[in-house]
Amino acid sequence: MAIPTITLNDGREIPQLGFGVFQIEQGTTAEKVTAALDVGYRHIDTAQMYGNEEGVGQAIADSGIPRDELWITTKLNNDGHGREEAVERLDTSLDKLGLSYVDLYLIHWPQPTQDRYVETWQGFEDARQAGKARSIGVSNFQIPHLERLAQETSTVPAINQIEFHPHLVQHDLREYHRKHGIATEAWSPIGQGKGLLDAPELAELAEKYGKSGAQVVLRWHVQLGNIVFPKSNNPERIKENSEIFDFSLSDDDVAAIEKLHTGKRIGPNPDDNG
Ligand code: NAD
Repeated sequence: MAIPTITLNDGREIPQLGFGVFQIEQGTTAEKVTAALDVGYRHIDTAQMYGNEEGVGQAIADSGIPRDELWITTKLNNDGHGREEAVERLDTSLDKLGLSYVDLYLIHWPQPTQDRYVETWQGFEDARQAGKARSIGVSNFQIPHLERLAQETSTVPAINQIEFHPHLVQHDLREYHRKHGIATEAWSPIGQGKGLLDAPELAELAEKYGKSGAQVVLRWHVQLGNIVFPKSNNPERIKENSEIFDFSLSDDDVAAIEKLHTGKRIGPNPDDNG
């Protein structure tokens, strides 16, 4: 499986498809990540909050895959904001992952009422300088949060990881990212499966392309230029979700999927979360 890459504003290349491990139990994480690595995934998206970094580390160690062929992302927990704290938390993640660096370190949520994300971002710049995180970015940042980083710091995030699926197409953030050279990562890319994948429009497209609804939606993200890391506990679905590079949606079908937008979020609104 040849997975395309996206070039980030720091010059590094990230595989456009990865494997997300949110809500995968620590005890089974190594097994699930191994299933993903076995079918060709080379990018894993974890977080301090998920409590399964050790499992990810175990699978990496067992795989024997050279470190430079893997892309490993983790995220700072919400109670770890602050310049020094952000670096200390990364040290703990590196211990758990058994790694000397992560490819990408993200501020998980801006936590605007704490109002510390600017100093936290300075800690992220320190972590990159120290070689502990090769790329740095943010998650769940809204335009005003990105604007503050632009005004008060000297590093534009390489990535903003945001909730993004056909029910929430994120028009304004996409436009802001495009203008400022920030890559978009889409979390819950298939809307966590429920509800969204039952849409008759997706069933029709699945039939037309001889693919599943999940594959059609993942392909839609790829064609929009998004980076995706669907999660599954099921090895057959893990494989299915990776088989999205052997077909293309027409421009009309890409536009039709965008019309499924309702604006309804699965997760919290980042402005109200902390
Ligand atoms: P997802 O959209 O990847 O959906 C996963 C669920 O969809 C599975 O649990 C399963 O029920 C179903 N599914 C998976 N493959 C399927 C298939 N082929 N056919 C039918 N159903 C299928 O949702 P997610 O796990 O929330 O998001 C993906 C990743 O994004 C996470 O694992 C995590 O890494 C990341 N994430 C980040 C944040 C953040 O705040 N930054 C929040 C949520 C998720």
